[in-house]
Amino acid sequence: MSARNILVINCGSSSIKFALVNEAQQSFAISGIAERLGSPDAVLHWQLGDKKHSAMMAFGDHQAALAELMPKVQAAANGKLHGIGHRVVHGGEKFTTASRLNQATLNAIKATSPLAPLHNPANLLGIDVAMKLFPNLPQVAVFDTAFHQTLPQHAYRYALPESLYREHGVRRYGFHGTSHRFVSRHAAELCELSVGDSSWLVAHLGNGCSTCAIVNGQSRDTSMGLTPLEGLVMGTRSGDVDPNLHSHLARTLGWDLEQIDHMLNRESGLLGLSGLSNDMRTLEQAREQGHAGATLAIEVFCYRLAKSLAALSCALPQFDGLIFTGGIGENSPLIRTMTVAHLKLFGLVLDKEANARMIRGISGPINAKDHPRVLVVATNEERQIALDTLALLN
Ligand code: AMP
Repeated sequence: MSARNILVINCGSSSIKFALVNEAQQSFAISGIAERLGSPDAVLHWQLGDKKHSAMMAFGDHQAALAELMPKVQAAANGKLHGIGHRVVHGGEKFTTASRLNQATLNAIKATSPLAPLHNPANLLGIDVAMKLFPNLPQVAVFDTAFHQTLPQHAYRYALPESLYREHGVRRYGFHGTSHRFVSRHAAELCELSVGDSSWLVAHLGNGCSTCAIVNGQSRDTSMGLTPLEGLVMGTRSGDVDPNLHSHLARTLGWDLEQIDHMLNRESGLLGLSGLSNDMRTLEQAREQGHAGATLAIEVFCYRLAKSLAALSCALPQFDGLIFTGGIGENSPLIRTMTVAHLKLFGLVLDKEANARMIRGISGPINAKDHPRVLVVATNEERQIALDTLALLN
């Protein structure tokens, strides 16, 4: 059988990211993003081989974008597209693995939407349009939360009245599961360890950030919770704050829930701390020039990250290594150095040159001593989604 092609779709409320994954090739034949959908500035950007292209599609919606990009995808796949894999953010407790899409799975994803009101409806929109346009192509949902369904109860329960969990699903779910799973497997391969007998701490550091403790290929604890706001300092998200902050702001400033939600999700994190930017590259440059806000934002980011990693070490029976991934984890020797410096009791020692070398998608070890390992591993969520989709087609 020749190598199969899967189109991976990540649908947001006004955007569709896509990539054509061939099971035998590392790079994507075509990938891109349709953004600002529904607005006069709607546009489709795509990369075919090394060449970048754009097409305006004023007021184009999700359906128009998929209809526009599909012939390009079919051409890049030589007419041989075997299925579509959709990223879905929240699978609740219902989905412990990827799932073939049919009416029953669609209903179950809809039922989970109250847990991810911003994300799941947008993901469902993409699924709905794709299923209508391509009723004969097998389609699969791959959930960000599914990998963390192996968390033990003592890790996923909040210390809240039980009825909130039993009746309303209030518990920790965790996110970025596709990335944590991909990089921990790849790290095991790089170190010639068996996935089924290895223990890792993973720091996924992008615009969203989370840590994960992975034992024998299973997630045992993670920093995100009921929503992707819990845990680390992120680009614009606060991560952990005192839960009483909500009532404090309501009482003292008269803020309503929407204002508080907006502040915690969009105005906080690196952006809030620095008063400058949510982008780590900008902050690193500003820190070089002595910008106090950028310096503080980076310090808080690294300290909180180290603290989370130390906390998650409670879930490991042994420690095979620390993995950095995501846009920041894969590209910032500075953040890796500053984080490791806070983890003195772990005995991690970085190889300065290797640390400087592991950027722009290069994966490999950056530890100076044999043990414990520190690795940079480039994540590839699209590939993992395609592999999960293929596994269900077999
Ligand atoms: P992601 O969401 O995984 O695409 O990651 C986005 C984050 O990665 C942003 O904060 C970027 O500033 C950061 N990033 C990308 N390249 C670099 C770099 N060379 N140095 C530091 N941060 C980077």
